[in-house]
Amino acid sequence: MSETVRMSVAEIHDLAVQALQSRGCSTAQAQAIADTVTAAERDGARSHGLFRIPFYVKAIDGAGAQPAADPALSDLAPGVVRVDGGMGFAPLALQRGAEPLIERARSQGIAALAVTDVFHIAALWPEVERMTEEGLVAFAFTGAINYVAPAGGTQPLYGTNPMAFGWPREDGAPIVFDQASSAAARGEIQLHKRAGKPIPEGWAVGPDGEPTTDPETALAGAQLPFGGHKGAAIALMVELLAGALIGDLFSYEAGEHDTNGVGAPRGGEFMIAIDPARCAAHGDAARSLARAEELFARVLGQEGTRLPGQRRHEIRARSRDQGVEVAQATVDEIRDLAGI
Ligand code: NDP
Repeated sequence: MSETVRMSVAEIHDLAVQALQSRGCSTAQAQAIADTVTAAERDGARSHGLFRIPFYVKAIDGAGAQPAADPALSDLAPGVVRVDGGMGFAPLALQRGAEPLIERARSQGIAALAVTDVFHIAALWPEVERMTEEGLVAFAFTGAINYVAPAGGTQPLYGTNPMAFGWPREDGAPIVFDQASSAAARGEIQLHKRAGKPIPEGWAVGPDGEPTTDPETALAGAQLPFGGHKGAAIALMVELLAGALIGDLFSYEAGEHDTNGVGAPRGGEFMIAIDPARCAAHGDAARSLARAEELFARVLGQEGTRLPGQRRHEIRARSRDQGVEVAQATVDEIRDLAGI
């Protein structure tokens, strides 16, 4: 097993901020990125934890990301807010858009946030979970770089295009799922490569279009959508929402911009937030939430089940008490990058 070091959540955050600031990030950008990276480490979502810091640095050095960008808010419609990220990173733009999205969802019943002109290297669950903490139902969608073949094809066209959904609960962890439309997130294949492990069958084809379990061949070829045409349909929808609809890049265009092969997608994110208090025919949000609990109880009534989001919240509780085991190689790489 590779060497690890135990770090507190605060130490992870400090390391991320220091590294990002040493490479030109403004305090606001560094803090926002560190918040999402730390949340991922804390929740056991390793492929979006500290492992991602070098990607942010590479995006600054080799892809034109603006580390001191100051995202700007504007209104597109009474229920649609835009944040122009100024070619900075997604976490700060999303933080800027969160309050306006919440306000509009409460006043309009449903509202949308179009985040444009950002580099997006993060998971989507933090922004969706934030909405559930306000009692809202939420969706989030973002494109990536063209790594995934359409159903039946073997050439990369779609991004790994994640979508996330969140449902608020009175008690307990909110229901949050956040999933790539590819069979696996690209970070998972990179982690397999780093660990020298084969990837499962069905994740990718090589450059020759043949199925592969070798992570390096997979990274050079095309990832596959999950569930064949069904995952491909979701990938297509994400391209349309986070690309065409909000006037930002498709994943293949993000790939064209990634001339140095940095792997930091430039593009947008689209979010929808819904206030349950404004939707139910009976006009009673508490009743809607209580009915949802009846469904969750039936899910959990079956052996072998759990609710999406539950795993992260269990790990979160442990991380707060005991800290987090981080790969020593990742920490060393970040310290080198930051010169600390
Ligand atoms: P996973 O397949 O690991 O998990 C997807 C979801 O399914 C999670 O919400 C998970 O909940 C839930 N889940 C898993 N197992 C169960 C189960 N047995 N019962 C109920 N729910 C379950 O995620 P992916 O590998 O597809 O994606 C990983 C991350 O990568 C995502 O956060 C995504 O946003 C990110 N990503 C980011 C990209 C970008 O360019 N910005 C591109 C692609 C992906 P739980 O968390 O509780 O385990």
